Amino acid sequence: MSDEFDLVVIGAGSGGVAASRRAAAHGARVLIAEADRVGGTCVIRGCVPKKLMMYAAGFAQAFDEARGYGWTGVAGRFEMSRWADAKAAETARLEGIYRKLLADSGVELAAGQARLLGDGAVAVGDRTVRTKRVLIATGGRPSRDALPGLSLAMTSNEVLDLRELPASLLVVGGGYIAVEFASILAALGVKVTMAFRGALPLRGFDPDLQQRLATALVARGIALAAGVDLQAIERTSDGFALRRSDGTVLRAAAALNATGRVANTEGLGLAEAGVALDADGAVAVDADSRTSAAGVWAIGDVTHRMNLTPVAIAEGRAFADTEFGHRAARVDHRTVASAVFCDPPIATVGLTEADALKLGPVDIFEADFRPMKTAFVGGEARSYMKLVVDGLNERVLGVHMIGADAPEIVQSLAVALTCGATKRDFDRTVAVHPTAAEEFVLMRQPVRRHLAALP
Ligand code: NDP
Repeated sequence: MSDEFDLVVIGAGSGGVAASRRAAAHGARVLIAEADRVGGTCVIRGCVPKKLMMYAAGFAQAFDEARGYGWTGVAGRFEMSRWADAKAAETARLEGIYRKLLADSGVELAAGQARLLGDGAVAVGDRTVRTKRVLIATGGRPSRDALPGLSLAMTSNEVLDLRELPASLLVVGGGYIAVEFASILAALGVKVTMAFRGALPLRGFDPDLQQRLATALVARGIALAAGVDLQAIERTSDGFALRRSDGTVLRAAAALNATGRVANTEGLGLAEAGVALDADGAVAVDADSRTSAAGVWAIGDVTHRMNLTPVAIAEGRAFADTEFGHRAARVDHRTVASAVFCDPPIATVGLTEADALKLGPVDIFEADFRPMKTAFVGGEARSYMKLVVDGLNERVLGVHMIGADAPEIVQSLAVALTCGATKRDFDRTVAVHPTAAEEFVLMRQPVRRHLAALP
């Protein structure tokens, strides 16, 4: 076993694994250090188990719909422990695949906490290796200091490891994790209250989506305690109490802290190695993921640029191609699509209406309809789509959707945006019928025209 490497990657999550395999494919000798399970947040305690839980939750609605479509005797009881066993088996299988991918790529995996020692030396557990380059890909973890008492609450990590559901849940926060877990747990029968300080959940998303999401969450029985600052959370004899600045107290049997995530920078020897952090405590990097220390790069959530798995992977590959493949590559963070797996799901790519307006004239196209599937079921569920179009050259600047299949539909439209598609390109695309996605190519007249950029 050599102790000389071209690259040491710290953190075997999606970004670190992608970077190390790409660097090895370019001929580099690569070691990847991991102190925990291989696969990182996405595979072990994030996107993958969350989506598996979302699928479990989806059956409650599917059973209701099935009755509308003529099925009888459709019912069931959800057992969290059975799901937990299936989830553990699936994450173990995926971890095995990640380990095999690394081995097959010729990347050496070393278990242990890594620490930069300076002058190209890195400690991994008890071993010291030498390397020409270091890539920090240690990801992030739930933040616990937004309010006093938050460390008493569960985070998404613990929710994904539950073997029994609580009767009621207080979700603290109104971001991605808050709306996703509120939707999932409510569908599984938990009485959910979401407490957040904004007027609407998902700050930063297009307000037309935020508003419709709030309506849909309430329709699914989730109580929204919005628009009031949160002060502290405490344990009580029968659960948790959240104090708010207007004097009100919200109570539930369990609490989920969903107040954001922080970068994993501790214990890496970053300060000693001259690696600067930004104001959020994340590793500061330039457009090529270089840190302030020569020979040290950082990608993914530890840089807090855009905390999404595919972005970490793209940053890792761009680094490896540039440094080892002699092919300069950079990630364009402007047209990254993202999805929120709440119910109904949201997906978006490009500019919001408000952001586009700052740049010039904008035309807005919308579709708002009851999905066909609800025809036999009743209910008020609706889908909503918005195109934000440049008023001068008709280029589509933003695509936004809330409704069934939004993530799948917007993923495909993200290709069109990346290619610079115009509204005319959408218009000359023949629809696939009957689908929901066809509404995106059938929007004829703008619902609003903003003629001049806002100051
Ligand atoms: P978010 O940043 O999305 O949301 C954090 C929430 O906590 C916001 O509602 C914020 O309120 C609130 N908050 C923060 N500080 C306070 C405070 N002091 N008092 C009251 N409220 C507070 O973080 P998440 O933890 O939900 O997710 C972290 C990141 O992980 C996301 O940004 C996303 O990048 C990624 N992620 C992506 C997913 C996906 O792609 N589907 C799924 C899950 C996570 P306010 O808005 O008012 O600041």
